[in-house]
Amino acid sequence: MSILSIWQAIQAVKKAESLDTRQVLGLQAHRFRKLLKHAFQKSRFYKSYYSDHGITEADIDGILPGDLPIIDKNIMMENYDDLVTDPLLKQADLERFIKESPDPGSKYKNKYSVVHTSGSSGTIGLFVYGPSDWTLGKALSLRVTGAELMLHRKKRIAFIAATGGHFASVASFYNLPRSLFKLLPLSISSSIEEIREQINRFQPDVITGYASGLNLLAEEQLEGRIGINPREAFCTGDPLTSAFRQRIERAFAINPVNMYGSSETMTLAGECKSHHRLHLFNDWSSVQLLGDDLKSAKAGQVVVTNLYNYTQPLIRYQMSDEIVMSDKACPCGWSFPVIESMAGRQEEFLWFSKNGGGEDFIHPIVLAEFFVPGLERFQFIQSSPDTLLMKAIVRGEKSSVVAAIREKMNEILSGKLLEQSVRFDVELVDEIRNDAKTGKFRLVVPFVKL
Ligand SMILES: [Zn+2]
Repeated sequence: MSILSIWQAIQAVKKAESLDTRQVLGLQAHRFRKLLKHAFQKSRFYKSYYSDHGITEADIDGILPGDLPIIDKNIMMENYDDLVTDPLLKQADLERFIKESPDPGSKYKNKYSVVHTSGSSGTIGLFVYGPSDWTLGKALSLRVTGAELMLHRKKRIAFIAATGGHFASVASFYNLPRSLFKLLPLSISSSIEEIREQINRFQPDVITGYASGLNLLAEEQLEGRIGINPREAFCTGDPLTSAFRQRIERAFAINPVNMYGSSETMTLAGECKSHHRLHLFNDWSSVQLLGDDLKSAKAGQVVVTNLYNYTQPLIRYQMSDEIVMSDKACPCGWSFPVIESMAGRQEEFLWFSKNGGGEDFIHPIVLAEFFVPGLERFQFIQSSPDTLLMKAIVRGEKSSVVAAIREKMNEILSGKLLEQSVRFDVELVDEIRNDAKTGKFRLVVPFVKL
């Protein structure tokens, strides 16, 4: 990727920051039609899916997003090889690549960035970005973080998250240029002793990663078990609650900047640094909400179109996140609309006692990003204080998929020194039901003492 193309992507992203609402919406509508035309011409899936709904390429100019049928992760994965626009991309090959090339910075065929997640839906999804798609996605995250460099030395960035695989946030972290930054990936799956030791030695200028990870660092700092002095903090991955924000401010005297992203969209929204309001970047995405009022919902489940991924177009794609939009504009100068609140990612931590004393946790995102080829859908249930059960729907050779699941889980447990303390079982099932009380799917079900 040339410096010129990165510079062009940053300019394309910067341009919209001074536009008014009407201009941003004009840009969005133009980009929507352009992507739709591309999907009609290059994606066998979209062409036939829309034809089945009575829509042809000739209708594109007059079409509104709401006129198009919705897709979701199941539809996407069932039609994967037909949905992508490059016939060289095949689901089976991509799954093999993820398994065989665990380095998050590695590219498929030295070209494509591949990320995967089950999110909180339990169904594994694959997302591929071509070189220019990926560059644009990175430029969008720079809109939030800025690109300020240190004058006399490399800027030191610590990133606390699930670090050992092809996940959206870690893949973009590993792609930061090493000539400008010194990077410390801190695995949320490491033992707390190791996290303390590494971050103390590294002394970051910037801390970034899961909000719950930064909260953990803040607790450690307030308890005097680590002593670091970062100047900037950026949160992503899981919800930045007000308790987390206050603790991070108390520990480091910095108000963290929150970002909202996903494998589907990379950076979909980010806070402005001046007012800390979360802006939806609707110049490179088109979002409708599935609320009670179908025409003009201000709250509901997110249906998103990623306007810059031309390799794996996601058009009117339903996510499990729910957001509420604010009616008020933000005085910061951005005309991107403000998200008042969001829900849908409050999965719970699983706590286990260690045989030798003490406790440690498994982070829910580590479980959401659990991946082995042949595993389609899953749920984790802590059936007793020291037993973890995975309900799994698999395809292909069952015994080898189960063996791979056990191997992967053993890796996660041993990272936390929990392999002797926790009994892990896999139960193969045909169906995983939603929670009877709430009607929603629970990816992680912790043990509750009665
Ligand atoms: Zn703002």
